[in-house]
Amino acid sequence: MAPKKVTIIGSGNWGSAIARIVGNTTKAYPQEFDPEVRMWVFEEVVNGEKLSEVINTRHENVKYLPGKILPTNVVAVTDLVESCVGSHLLVFVVPHQFVKGICEKLVGKIPTDAQAISLIKGVSTEKKGGLKLISEEIKEILKIEVSVLMGANLAPEVANDNFCEATIGCKRKATDGPLLKKLFHTENFRINVVEDAHTVELCGALKNVVACAAGFTDGLGYGDNTKAAVIRLGLMETTKFVEHYYPGSNLQTFFESCGIADLITTCYGGRNRKVCEAFVKTGKPLAEVEKELLNGQSAQGPLTAEEVFLMMQKTGLETKFPLFTAVHRICKGEMKPAELVDCLRNHPEHL
Ligand code: NAD
Ligand code: 13P
Repeated sequence: MAPKKVTIIGSGNWGSAIARIVGNTTKAYPQEFDPEVRMWVFEEVVNGEKLSEVINTRHENVKYLPGKILPTNVVAVTDLVESCVGSHLLVFVVPHQFVKGICEKLVGKIPTDAQAISLIKGVSTEKKGGLKLISEEIKEILKIEVSVLMGANLAPEVANDNFCEATIGCKRKATDGPLLKKLFHTENFRINVVEDAHTVELCGALKNVVACAAGFTDGLGYGDNTKAAVIRLGLMETTKFVEHYYPGSNLQTFFESCGIADLITTCYGGRNRKVCEAFVKTGKPLAEVEKELLNGQSAQGPLTAEEVFLMMQKTGLETKFPLFTAVHRICKGEMKPAELVDCLRNHPEHL
């Protein structure tokens, strides 16, 4: 079989960190992968220079991953369709609010036998009172198979080549799993492949909501015991949420990197935690602290909390998930951050 061309759709903090891995694995396995990796860049001007030109000449994403060199076989392309033409492996890694528009532009422009893997942590807008995953949205629009990769993977640490693990959720594990693993697995980025893809994806999306709660309690001055309670109750709500929407999922998946490990790392070191802590401490609107702290990067938790809340509200589920609901209400200014602890105190897990 001809080596597959890979396109990375996205070039933010995580997109750029993963480009360092994929640039190297594609070179290491020339029988499986075409060594030129195209990376779609949403063009912007940074310090008077086009970001795509900086990436293609100095091999550094100076805005979203400064100080880290990208392999020279990673080529920035600003035209979305051009970046994907002829690619059989599409790696989606953009903030989730942009994925629908991107997919719609790609309809009819990619090989019909292409496959995708989504590294996006978030959920789509609801479908008829139910839940739609980002992978389902991509599949629905592009009619291709979509796997997911989630895990305890703060991008700056991955870009430092610090040891970590990640989980690939792949419904066709036997046929697609080995190739996907080859694309990402390295000495310091260890991949486990599981079939329970929807659990993997929901763990990735919902941990951003839990991280907001951890940020709120940090902002209020609570310590690590409180944060541990947030993590535990967040995990309980996550397992319940997955069970409600996808009955019969595998409990073991929550013990993969995508589950408990990602909850821990994000609740301690993530951007959602940081932004939500500053929101409480400064009293400024979330959008303002995000802009001040993240330099164009995006915290997906508040948006995910809203999407999840709207889904739950349709079916009267919101009282069963008090932590998720409180995060949304606090983000919207409908509830004071200090009330979060009351909500944890009265959590159904304690009744
Ligand atoms: P990011 O937070 O750095 O977001 C910035 C990116 O969004 C930039 O590439 C920017 O060009 C792009 N962008 C801005 N406006 C756009 C538009 N209108 N259309 C398309 N793109 C636009 O992005 P990221 O950190 O790469 O995160 C992408 C996904 O990966 C998210 O779902 C995130 O939760 C997930 N993720 C992030 C990390 C991390 O540590 N950063 C780790 C694991 C997973
Ligand atoms: P944040 O978006 O909160 O930084 O989390 C990154 C992440 O997903 C780590 O696994």
